[in-house]
Amino acid sequence: MEMIKRRKTRPVYIGNVKIGDDAPIVVQSMTDTKTYEIENTLNQINRLYQAGCELIRVAVPTEKDVQALPQIVKNSPIPVIADIHFSPRIAFKALESGIHGIRLNPGNINDKEQIRDILLECQKRNIAVRLGVNSGSLEERLLEKYGYPSAEALAQSALYWSEFFESIGFKNFKVSIKGSDVLQNIEANKIFAQKTDIPLHIGITEAGSLKQGSIKSAVGIGILLYMGIGDTVRVSLTADPEEEIDTAYKILQSLGLRRKGVEIISCPTCGRIEVNLPQVVKKVEDSLKGIDKPIKVAIMGCVVNAIGEAKEADIGLACGNKSAILFKKGQPIKRVTEQEMVEELLKEINTL
Ligand code: SF4
Repeated sequence: MEMIKRRKTRPVYIGNVKIGDDAPIVVQSMTDTKTYEIENTLNQINRLYQAGCELIRVAVPTEKDVQALPQIVKNSPIPVIADIHFSPRIAFKALESGIHGIRLNPGNINDKEQIRDILLECQKRNIAVRLGVNSGSLEERLLEKYGYPSAEALAQSALYWSEFFESIGFKNFKVSIKGSDVLQNIEANKIFAQKTDIPLHIGITEAGSLKQGSIKSAVGIGILLYMGIGDTVRVSLTADPEEEIDTAYKILQSLGLRRKGVEIISCPTCGRIEVNLPQVVKKVEDSLKGIDKPIKVAIMGCVVNAIGEAKEADIGLACGNKSAILFKKGQPIKRVTEQEMVEELLKEINTL
């Protein structure tokens, strides 16, 4: 089996979660609740954790949000990262809250003295930083040099701030470079990755709705991952953050980098179909939610080519007229009726 060779990076720890080096690619997300609504925020963090989220970021735009952090950090099952923009004052308060990491965009603080002080405080408290560079907040001098926020300009900005972080002895950080489109994003991350061993947080920002955003993310994140680039992933969707986790694992799984749940493959259907396959697939998908086994389940529309087509699946159904053949490792094991096919399949999966 083909394997992706990952770029060699140095490790960074956010709480007890290791990013980079030999760690698996970490899946993260961001809450969309008001952070100061502590119960809602914790409920969402717990749901995301159940879905497989390994790191969570919360927005901290106001004083009220900072005040909520100690309780959120204390009760969260996964390390919490505070998302800070513009305000060094809020950054310092967040650092006192026990937070595991902060995300800083030096472009929107842009005061080296204040950034240095924040980093020294992080150093003292062993708090990791995500250094975020965005096309929307690039430094003037780079805009003047490159004329617009090009991929090269974004990579140069990330390299510049990384060198600044390191010049004061701060190494516990990862970098994210977010361009305005998929190609720019890929190119900027590629330029940066060739020059350092700093772990990269990758994702396509403002990717869009569930479908469009998932496709854009799969392409952008997928190409970077294929090149071995990316140590932690966030899929950004205008949708429930639980969908972000699901999409992230599907992207990682399709490249053989991580797996979560059960992999379901199904045929596209054609004129030979005699059952409502989308309905069968939906039923199986719903029933398997929450089951985490390293298996592949195939659901095929007919018996003509199905068993052969799904040879690499561990178990599956080849549907026919009002019945289906249940197969295991490419071998038929029994015939089941349309009514019992999903239940029989689940029973067999439980024995694996
Ligand atoms: S498995 Fe059968 S129904 Fe599905 S695409 Fe292949 S031939 Fe058509």
